[in-house]
Amino acid sequence: MQTLREKLRDETRFLIATELVSVRGSMAESSAIKARSFANELVACPQIDWVSITDNAGGNPQLAPLALGRPILYAGKEVVIHLTCKDLNRNALESEAWMLNSEGFNNILAMTGDYPVAGNEGIAKPVFDIDSIGLISLLHKMNQGLGAGQAQGDDYRLEKTQFCIGAVTTNFKLREGEVMPQYLKLEKKVQCGAQFIINQIGFDSRKISELRFYMDTHGMQHTPLIGNVYLLGPRVAKLFHEGRIPGVVISDALWELCQKQSRSPDGGKAFFLELTAKQIAICRGLGFRGAYLGGVHSFPAIERILEIERTFSPGDWKQFAREIRFSRPGEFFFYAEDPATGLADRTRENPRPQSHSKHITAVYELSKWSHRTMFEPDAAFAKWGAKACARAKDPMQGPRPLRVLEKLSKEVLFNCKDCGDCSLPDIAYLCPESQCAKNQRNGPCGGTREGRCEVDGFGDCIWLRAYERLKHEGRELALLDHAPVVQNQGLRGTSAWANNWLGRDHSARRASAASPEKIPVEAGALKS
Ligand code: SF4
Repeated sequence: MQTLREKLRDETRFLIATELVSVRGSMAESSAIKARSFANELVACPQIDWVSITDNAGGNPQLAPLALGRPILYAGKEVVIHLTCKDLNRNALESEAWMLNSEGFNNILAMTGDYPVAGNEGIAKPVFDIDSIGLISLLHKMNQGLGAGQAQGDDYRLEKTQFCIGAVTTNFKLREGEVMPQYLKLEKKVQCGAQFIINQIGFDSRKISELRFYMDTHGMQHTPLIGNVYLLGPRVAKLFHEGRIPGVVISDALWELCQKQSRSPDGGKAFFLELTAKQIAICRGLGFRGAYLGGVHSFPAIERILEIERTFSPGDWKQFAREIRFSRPGEFFFYAEDPATGLADRTRENPRPQSHSKHITAVYELSKWSHRTMFEPDAAFAKWGAKACARAKDPMQGPRPLRVLEKLSKEVLFNCKDCGDCSLPDIAYLCPESQCAKNQRNGPCGGTREGRCEVDGFGDCIWLRAYERLKHEGRELALLDHAPVVQNQGLRGTSAWANNWLGRDHSARRASAASPEKIPVEAGALKS
């Protein structure tokens, strides 16, 4: 049996994947029995290359994907297990990855995950200890032989895993400050070890073509891109249109079309099946490496979609691409439109006008000045701070007056939560702990809607605001130059200033990785 990795390497193949949404309850539950019988049909279908199984989709508690995945894998079909950071910390994710590896599951789709929305006796506490970039980096390290740490000797490397690591991206966003950070984060995901990419659900061929072209022209031309193709129906279209599923958008025009079709004698069934088949044809025509079928819960529907797609002629996709262009008014596109095709013109980038951002504030200017003065490695204040903290009674807290000043000033200016591993300079002086629902330190998650956080009460996404601040200075494309950041939770409640000066935080670890001769001062202090 060809592995997914081998299939992805074969550029002559167009792969078909199906998403199996897990259910709540045990394998004996009637919904699980239904899912298993659907899975059995998928296993027997040679046109299906792999089955992807969700992990607590939509932030709801569900049966672990491994339970549904085992019979599929053992029956000889490739399985992709979704692994998200919302319910598990880095240790639990690593532990899960070891289990997957031990059971023969070698394909993982690594994501940040949806914000929890349900749970027994109330909503679950979200974890978000690391994000998708942190998870991809961890899995990549496991593939290279993860260091075992002091217990087995610092040089000892654990057995290498063979994970084929997938990641998700989305460019179906409205504002420039949403779209561009998504592209920059996609580049980081690939640099950190993502081996294939699946895009988010979306219904705009121009954006779909733009993603392919962006990858082709930004060093990701060899990374397999799989198109997300979703079978709509009136009920799910309404959910998407109302913004009830974070990151998935249906424009007013498409919603009107869905409503019109749903009034036809078959309730729009034939229309929605054909729409899905057309989307597959578009992905094939645009050079995607496969299609990822979601929203399909019965095997006859899959058979019908694939059957319809087979009836199309090779060039038909161009007409379909013209039909399926449901962007929103004022939506940002990286590339100009090619009038001949209605798709992105990879030779012409759209201008990105100078920002006159409301996000530039006196606090931002003051923060930049303070950082230069206090934390640049050669700044006199940084040298003095390092000495003062090293000599303090508790070097983790530093001298008491400095600590009081740090706490007061950062609480007032940034609503600091005293995490001790400060990311302010990485996010244009916006605090991810207090202003990002998912504590994202390596770029935005995919959940924003028109620039706003998917979680009520958080307002504009900090990454959009950070992008605007940098854009004002012409540095917006450097937004994620700092990634990957993996926060050290062991520093919580300690002085972030002292941690920076004494080389204990992530920026010092990054600097020491760049220049290996520099040994972080006091690096061992955390272990006591
Ligand atoms: S130390 Fe942590 S909590 Fe405080 S401002 Fe920096 S990132 Fe936010």
